[in-house]
Amino acid sequence: MEQLGMLYEGKAKQVFLTDDPEKIVIHYKDTATAFNNIKKATIENKGVLNNAISSIIFRELGKAGVPTHYIGTLNDRDQVCRRVSIIPLEVIVRNIVAGSMAQRLGIEEGTQPSNTIIDICYKKDELGDPLINDHHAVALGLVTYGELDEIYRMTTRINEVLKSMFARMNIRLVDFKIEFGRTSDGEIVLADEVSPDTCRLWDMTTNEKLDKDRFRRDLGRVREAYEEILSRLKKITE
Ligand code: UDP
Repeated sequence: MEQLGMLYEGKAKQVFLTDDPEKIVIHYKDTATAFNNIKKATIENKGVLNNAISSIIFRELGKAGVPTHYIGTLNDRDQVCRRVSIIPLEVIVRNIVAGSMAQRLGIEEGTQPSNTIIDICYKKDELGDPLINDHHAVALGLVTYGELDEIYRMTTRINEVLKSMFARMNIRLVDFKIEFGRTSDGEIVLADEVSPDTCRLWDMTTNEKLDKDRFRRDLGRVREAYEEILSRLKKITE
């Protein structure tokens, strides 16, 4: 497989075409952004860590029967994945109240709700990724109601697999964001990444934050937190 020109550049990754129209290469960068691109920095080695972390997590999800875009890891920073068209929805799962939900609803961060909450946001930087509902998503032409059913079913399964995987690492999966894509034959698969950039991960014993909130909230030791996640993931999967 030969890597060709860049198809797209995002905040933390680049996507390259290959000589196989069904495959792309995803390259993980060291850049970090928060608050809709207002806060920016380089976190040395973050791309290497997130590539390794997301690769392990996608393999575990694949073993658990979740269809994903992931095909394989090429090197420190690159993955080969199925080419999909990304559905412009951010699907957010909340097992514990934190971040924007805590702020919006005036609930103390760390509150355990009686149910699992799934939010959907319209992925559009110019609008600041607004929170929407199923009807808005259909009205915007992003998905059909049938596809939303499928997305919620897959999301619930992904949450079960990830919650129990992180529990084995003594980590509480507070919340996370996932994205889905459509393959050329219309199959919906998990795409993008699952990493400390896209999850809130709290140590079960100390409540220490081991995720991007260390960057967002200037808590320091960002790289060390990501390294800790990778090291615990390796322990339970190797
Ligand atoms: N998240 C993300 N990308 C986004 C927005 C949120 O990966 O553009 C993740 C975030 O890291 C957290 C979860 O989704 O794990 C919920 O984020 P929230 O809505 O609380 O927003 P935030 O506090 O990050 O603004």
